[in-house]
Amino acid sequence: MIDITQPIYVLTIAAFVFGLIRMGNPATARSGILWAGIAMAFSIGATFFVPGISNLILIFPAILIGAVIGYVAARKVAIVDMPQMVAIYNGMGAGAASTIAAIELIKVGNSSFNIIVALVGAIIGNVSIAGSTIAFLKLQGWMRQKPITFFLQQVLNIVVMAVGILFGVLFLVHSSAIVSYRSSLIPFFALTIAYGFLMALPIGGADMPVLISLYNAMTGIAVGLEGFAISNYAMVVAGILVGAAGTILTVAMASAMNRSVGAILAGGFGKPQEENRAISGNLKPISSEDVAIMLAYSSTVAIVPGFGMASAQAQFKVRDLTDMLISKGIKVFFAIHPVAGRMPGHMNVLLAEAGVPYDLLMDREEANRAFQDVDVSLVIGANDVVNPAARIQGTPLYGMPILDVDKSKNVIVLKRGSGKGFAGIENDLFYMEKTKMLYGDAQESISKLIQELKKL
Ligand code: NAP
Repeated sequence: MIDITQPIYVLTIAAFVFGLIRMGNPATARSGILWAGIAMAFSIGATFFVPGISNLILIFPAILIGAVIGYVAARKVAIVDMPQMVAIYNGMGAGAASTIAAIELIKVGNSSFNIIVALVGAIIGNVSIAGSTIAFLKLQGWMRQKPITFFLQQVLNIVVMAVGILFGVLFLVHSSAIVSYRSSLIPFFALTIAYGFLMALPIGGADMPVLISLYNAMTGIAVGLEGFAISNYAMVVAGILVGAAGTILTVAMASAMNRSVGAILAGGFGKPQEENRAISGNLKPISSEDVAIMLAYSSTVAIVPGFGMASAQAQFKVRDLTDMLISKGIKVFFAIHPVAGRMPGHMNVLLAEAGVPYDLLMDREEANRAFQDVDVSLVIGANDVVNPAARIQGTPLYGMPILDVDKSKNVIVLKRGSGKGFAGIENDLFYMEKTKMLYGDAQESISKLIQELKKL
């Protein structure tokens, strides 16, 4: 039988690369995801043409069950629950890589190189599946979100991983002896999985998105290594792409939050810091009627969305408000912080969903150059990403690059009450003389603003 899997894999790789390129721009990102899906379909389809394929009776139902669960879950998931969905799907990818490793390792007659590659891939995959599971449980609220720490935790972590690796080495050395391989492979898997669980415990649920991105990169690397082990080059390329993209994203997210990736790996990430600081000024409520008047008399308005906009699902109303302001001849732009919301690109996704034109979106640097000319900044459910406390040494946010909303002439903050941001600290911006608070659910507040603007 002619092996047509290789040409299909070439198409797979081309579709993955093309998809990734298209994901680099918000205007083409949706089709990029579609292309990645097509690539996945190619690679799954190729499996049926592998010479000597067996177990079709198992493969078909597995694909069907996976496809149905994936489709239903993706359709039902709320946008704010997306991080935990990414976590669990990522864990499944890692689990698949580890399973391939296990199957390869119990085969007799592998070369040492193959065994080493499979072992390294298994370690990375095991850590990733276990860590992703903890990330999912924490984000879903099925496990205590706060960091779980205990005496000599780091020492235990190191010992567990070191002993796990030792069993891997024992397996490598004795892999030709049938009896010994089972005895060392089982503790190797158990301990490296246990390390994955332990590693994720001290990390706060709220800090999980960075860790998920790291696990995503690790899953890519594990898949790439297992691709080497079984000579599947579509897996190698797909794994490398995911590994590289995940690594870049992890570093970008960590630096946007002023964290270090090294600290994440050490498990010391996300420890809550106490804030003990007095803020002068007071919170000044404002009515939607007064905000509408302020907006109507503005030349330039900046919209600064954050997690609260996602939570309120206010993006469609925000779009209506934007259209209305533009129709009145007011210049409007959106200031997008890279970690606004709870996942990378969260605001871009929501605004794209609502059909906000991409050319109205400014990144942090560009927006910060523009704020001084802004008459009114509308802060819609954003908190940490606009908190000037990030400029004050000793605060938990110190060093995080923020949107300089406080440089605009007037600031209106839309939030429900006294809820703090993700970092759990007071926001100096809210107490400034130029700032007024428009209390209420963001979607309702914007609906009222639109009504008031219509009257003017
Ligand atoms: P934030 O600091 O979490 O603040 C959200 C604000 O929205 C709160 O002050 C809350 O106040 C308000 N809010 C919640 N529901 C609302 C509703 N229905 N209507 C109106 N307001 C509502 O949000 P952010 O400024 O976007 O900052 C994101 C934070 O997440 C950063 O600290 C970032 O480091 C972190 N983070 C982001 C990512 C990422 O990838 N994007 C990953 C990990 C961590 P009330 O309760 O008073 O309404």
